[in-house]
Amino acid sequence: MTETSRCIKCYSCISACPICFCVDCTTKNPAYVTPGELPPNFMFHLIRFAHIADSCVNCGQCQELCPAEIPNALFMHAQQVELEWMFGHVPGVSMELPMLALVEEKEERARLHNTGSDMIYENVFKPYKN
Ligand code: SF4
Ligand code: SF4
Repeated sequence: MTETSRCIKCYSCISACPICFCVDCTTKNPAYVTPGELPPNFMFHLIRFAHIADSCVNCGQCQELCPAEIPNALFMHAQQVELEWMFGHVPGVSMELPMLALVEEKEERARLHNTGSDMIYENVFKPYKN
């Protein structure tokens, strides 16, 4: 939390990550991360950890491009290694979906195309949408 308190929410770590694919990013949902607040609350980083840690291939881009020099890849890979020990999924090598994956990209794309949002829990967040 001390390291991430330097975050300026530039989204470089998200846009550079080869694993991230959601168009409707949960980090932009005001129900979780208050718009305009800097540094963003820790939930911003927890969302990344929860969504990516089991798939992180440790490419280092989220750390290399961070203007606040937050060791994002170190944090993410530390979690990925633990998850690999727990579930045996090796990102970039194992062909099956990671244990924590709830949806597939094709389903998310289809949901986005059909509804204008790829949020699974669209109704839950409706009161928070503009
Ligand atoms: S790249 Fe760094 S400063 Fe930008 S959003 Fe990610 S953690 Fe925050
Ligand atoms: S190190 Fe992991 S979390 Fe960071 S950009 Fe690469 S795949 Fe994404």
